[in-house]
Amino acid sequence: MAQVPVRPSGLPPGMSLPPGMSLPQGPGGPPMQIQVNPALQALLDSLPTKDVPFTLQQQPIANSQPPQSNTLVVCPVHKQSTCEICSVDFTPLNYMHQFLRSAPSEAIPPPPQVQPPAQRAEAIKAAKEQGNAAFKNQNFPMAIQHYSRSADMALSRPPWELAAVSRDETAIALCNRSAAFAFAGAWANALADAEAVVTLKRPWTKGHFRKSRALVGLGRLEEARDALIDGLQFEPNDKELNAFLKEIDEKLASEE
Ligand SMILES: [Zn+2]
Repeated sequence: MAQVPVRPSGLPPGMSLPPGMSLPQGPGGPPMQIQVNPALQALLDSLPTKDVPFTLQQQPIANSQPPQSNTLVVCPVHKQSTCEICSVDFTPLNYMHQFLRSAPSEAIPPPPQVQPPAQRAEAIKAAKEQGNAAFKNQNFPMAIQHYSRSADMALSRPPWELAAVSRDETAIALCNRSAAFAFAGAWANALADAEAVVTLKRPWTKGHFRKSRALVGLGRLEEARDALIDGLQFEPNDKELNAFLKEIDEKLASEE
């Protein structure tokens, strides 16, 4: 049986290390000491414990290149993860170990002051450009798909990256998608995207323009006019907004 008679420092009672295995080393040599809350330690010491014998087994991962293996905790006699004779079940422990090993690197924040990898920004931009290409070809359903992908990637940036970057990328993708929805005649979707853009980047005139455009599509001219006025307070001389305001005012005058 793999038993270590003396409990190595830092291990909770009832746990022992198999031969040849050691605790992580601190920088410069001595094993890392785990700070223990004395009250918690006293509580743990008061609990009945028994040493569970185990050993580690290497299990090759099929088709891995270069060959890799998983380390499994198994019973020392029968080398089983679940063993009725030894009355042990290491399956949850092994499962958790595999899970932590296979967790994407994104689950672990990088050290501070590290620039995020450029790949995500490039992928978000590439999806947007594919959307623009489809838009130019008037393939609006395809454009909508690409813009959705771009927005999804921007929104799934890990929380430790700059929020402003994600916000800008999302606003651009949704603004373009709003235009694609508008050209496809899906005015309600166009309005929903435009409102999201205005919420994300209120001073950006494009969002107000898309919102107004969608409202005209829905036949809500007064609200469309309000949306333009809202945008013009940030850029009073914006040509696109002013031209569209003139157009809406003419429509409203002709309706009276
Ligand atoms: Zn066994």
